[in-house]
Amino acid sequence: MSRPKVAVIGLDCLEPSLAFERLAGSLPHLEELMSRGRWGRLTSTIPPITVPAWMCMATGQDPGQLGIYGFRNRREPSYGPPATAAADWVDAPRLWDAATGAGLTSVVLGWPLTYPAAPLKGAMVSGPLTPPGARDGVWPPSLAPRLERWAGGEYLHDVKNFRTAPRRELYAQLELMAQRRFAVAQGLYRLYAPDLFMMVEMSSDRLQHAFWEEPELMAGHYRLLDALVGELVACLDPETLVLVVSDHGARPLEGGLAVNQWLRQRGYLKLKQPPAEPAPLTPEMVDWPHTQVWADGGYYGRVYLNLAGREPQGSVPPSEAEALLARLSGELTAMAGPDGRPLGNRVFRPQDIYHETRGLPPELILYPGDLAWRALATVWPTDDPVFTEGNDSGPDGANHAQHGVLIAAPAAGGRLEGAGREVRGARLYDVFPSLCAHLGLPQGRPGPGESWDWLK
Ligand SMILES: [Zn+2]
Repeated sequence: MSRPKVAVIGLDCLEPSLAFERLAGSLPHLEELMSRGRWGRLTSTIPPITVPAWMCMATGQDPGQLGIYGFRNRREPSYGPPATAAADWVDAPRLWDAATGAGLTSVVLGWPLTYPAAPLKGAMVSGPLTPPGARDGVWPPSLAPRLERWAGGEYLHDVKNFRTAPRRELYAQLELMAQRRFAVAQGLYRLYAPDLFMMVEMSSDRLQHAFWEEPELMAGHYRLLDALVGELVACLDPETLVLVVSDHGARPLEGGLAVNQWLRQRGYLKLKQPPAEPAPLTPEMVDWPHTQVWADGGYYGRVYLNLAGREPQGSVPPSEAEALLARLSGELTAMAGPDGRPLGNRVFRPQDIYHETRGLPPELILYPGDLAWRALATVWPTDDPVFTEGNDSGPDGANHAQHGVLIAAPAAGGRLEGAGREVRGARLYDVFPSLCAHLGLPQGRPGPGESWDWLK
């Protein structure tokens, strides 16, 4: 029997209700894989964000175990800006590290949080946070000139300004980026014939944030991705186990919840002086000795306590922290929306949902309206408004959703047991142990996931 092989084709933010339902009948390659394999919704991390989700998939660790709670993280208890997560924060072995350790060849392409590209047995092209023009985004470095040749032009790690670029130009860039990445994927696969192939395509995420309200453009790009996946799968070793996955889904965005405005209204946050114009909260604006709580915005909200003995001008005595957090959680959960009905906020405490909480996690993770709303960091000249129609960091039609896509099937011909049937309850955390088991790799550090028995 030949050695098991795996190809993970990641399509960032691919939404299951589109891939499995609304566009059913127009994605022939994905549907062909579904008919020979298993498919379903893949529960993402909390929060369901590109960083850390893809790295949680690659390591089997949760965000708390990685100490990476989002793109931006507090690294020290100062009021300064949070740091952008970097590859060297990850100290858990990634699937390709485990493969390298076992003498297997890996190709890693576009996986978020892999810049700079690091040595492995095989090849790596780093992910979307790679700075434009960087020379250390490819390993081995001698591979760099081939990327452009395979791509037929400049290889694009990501598109620029996806919220503000001219629409037509942006859509064309998304197509080009996807075509070039899949061309590079085929080039790398043919050159290395890897045991483990792992790639992430970002255009699907950018598409949904920019074009969510334009169904034809959305459908067009989904069809393009379907065709590109089909072409790539056709060039894989036929016995390869293919996983098509997304790190989270997407959903319509109702509007913004200005969390700091709400904290001001409730007296938890005091400003030295209100800003003359709406502006994101900065440390200089805050009357810290009289502030108990502040928040950061994004696809979800992060709520921090100004804790005495931890923050430079902490005001909340540690003995009162628990009671304050309980009250705050209760008030956030009960919050009414602009129409007076409950907004449906969900609040998580990192120590309740993660195996560990390394680094400096937020005290609370907030899903405004269960992610139907974005969290805004903006403060206004007055205590109002708390709700806005738009986003505060550029137009955005979609927010992230908790479930991504999972399709698992052999590359060609074969069928999985129970072929065509939907899988329920699969989690992003299960990918690592499941693929370790499939490839015969040691499981490494225990995480929350379990190996899928339907894959055995
Ligand atoms: Zn993502």
